[in-house]
Amino acid sequence: MKWIPLFLLLSAWACSAGERHEHGRAELDVAIEGMSLTAEFRSPADSVLGFEHVPKTAKEKQTASAALEILRARSGELLLLPADAGCQFQPGMASIASEAGGHQDVEASMRTTCRRPLLKGEIRFAFDRHFPGIRQLVVQLVGPGFQTGATIAGGSGTIRFGP
Ligand SMILES: [Zn+2]
Repeated sequence: MKWIPLFLLLSAWACSAGERHEHGRAELDVAIEGMSLTAEFRSPADSVLGFEHVPKTAKEKQTASAALEILRARSGELLLLPADAGCQFQPGMASIASEAGGHQDVEASMRTTCRRPLLKGEIRFAFDRHFPGIRQLVVQLVGPGFQTGATIAGGSGTIRFGP
């Protein structure tokens, strides 16, 4: 019955690939559809807040609420879209979620609508501006007729998109 250990090995690998929590490493899944773009951000809380526990002191509470507010309301400062598309970010959602082993993640949903379809161009990422603790931003980008991605060092860089 050699297939049992192989199956267990594969399922363990699939789990760890989907739920990686590595300090300094954040993920951003971007989807472009017509004139809208949505992005799901996930990062160890340590890389966004500088600590990873339920905020206790007044300073920690202030740090946490300021960081969540940037992710929620100022995502246009983190993701810069082609100017000619005329995109505007809408208020999104941001929260802190507890993970296994006493870890915490910061999760955020971002959304923008544009005056013109986002067919091709360049997206600039500037997470370093507010979150210098992010050393790697792993970006996946899907849209009509294309799928691309890159690991952006220091949370600052660009990705070209288009068919
Ligand atoms: Zn952690």
